[in-house]
Amino acid sequence: MINIADNLSLVNKQIIAARNKTTSSASTVSLLAVSKTKPISLIQQAYAAGQRHFGENYVQEIVDKVQQLSDLADITWHFIGPIQANKTKLIANNVAWIHSVDREKIAKRLNEQRDINTTPLNVCLQVNISGEQSKSGVSVTEVAKLAEFIDNCENLCLRGLMAIPQKTSDKTATHNSFRQMQTLFNQLSHQYPSVDTLSMGMSNDMDIAIECGSTMIRVGTAIFGARE
Ligand SMILES: *Cc1c(COP(=O)(O)O)cnc(C)c1O
Repeated sequence: MINIADNLSLVNKQIIAARNKTTSSASTVSLLAVSKTKPISLIQQAYAAGQRHFGENYVQEIVDKVQQLSDLADITWHFIGPIQANKTKLIANNVAWIHSVDREKIAKRLNEQRDINTTPLNVCLQVNISGEQSKSGVSVTEVAKLAEFIDNCENLCLRGLMAIPQKTSDKTATHNSFRQMQTLFNQLSHQYPSVDTLSMGMSNDMDIAIECGSTMIRVGTAIFGARE
């Protein structure tokens, strides 16, 4: 049987080890537990072990989980999946963070639909760092324009950048993509004081991501086990 508390403790140790290995890493690296497709009971176990930030990819699934776990007052939900325009209202009013904004139309809708009586929605732009045609994400050359648009949205708070590099066994290619993200992030954070989050690194590449300055890694498999 899978032991969530043990897995979390191993990942947290791995974060510390990766940070200690490099001088360029961020001062803190937070852990987003990616619970997509996993049952509520495993999320509750992770919560009991001290985990507070959870990420999901599918709109209906996150809405259901938010409702079922509404008794956990200090749990923080992050939406990290592709966004369809007709689903923005559900996202805008059920999560604290969204990592996958990649076009103005989506940002505009989220801004209009976010309840004005709550805190602004924390937003990271998803960057298509490997330039893959099929991938979602704004292109590197369009980041500045989209960031400016979001910064002007009253109900959104521009927090940073997110990327999923092309799947490859070539560690140098992954490293290069993360370094490119670090450069983009440094530029953006100089321009906007609210920008403090570089969301990159998953179960298989978190060490490289942390070495390249990631401030938030998104880990599923290493915590909750393989998905079907
Ligand atoms: C599924 C997913 C993750 C977690 O991936 P693992 O390899 O299971 O750690 C992280 N980020 C995004 C955007 C995902 O869709």
